[in-house]
Amino acid sequence: MGEALYWVLRLASLQIDEDEGGDMVCSYLIILGVILLVLYVALYLYNKVVVGKRVKQHPCKFCGHMVNAVSHCCAAPVEEKFMAAKCSKCGKQTRTVCATCKRDLY
Ligand SMILES: [Zn+2]
Ligand SMILES: [Zn+2]
Repeated sequence: MGEALYWVLRLASLQIDEDEGGDMVCSYLIILGVILLVLYVALYLYNKVVVGKRVKQHPCKFCGHMVNAVSHCCAAPVEEKFMAAKCSKCGKQTRTVCATCKRDLY
């Protein structure tokens, strides 16, 4: 009888421990999610505000220094996307060229 009570108490305490652990993991995940969301929004705004307004510079292997990147079609600033560049003047996908020597930057 004493042994049974011991096991019941032990199982009950384990149950409580698990519940507390679950709550902690849960709130930890929520905090982590909020932090990630804030970081994501901050990075997004940073890209929009800071990088979006600055003319991107690229190293040109022909000029040998950092140069402004312009579109091949209109020689206008390019909106750079992942693996592609869009001309800000005509809106077409374009190659990125050096503003000084007009040669391909990639
Ligand atoms: Zn160049
Ligand atoms: Zn263009």
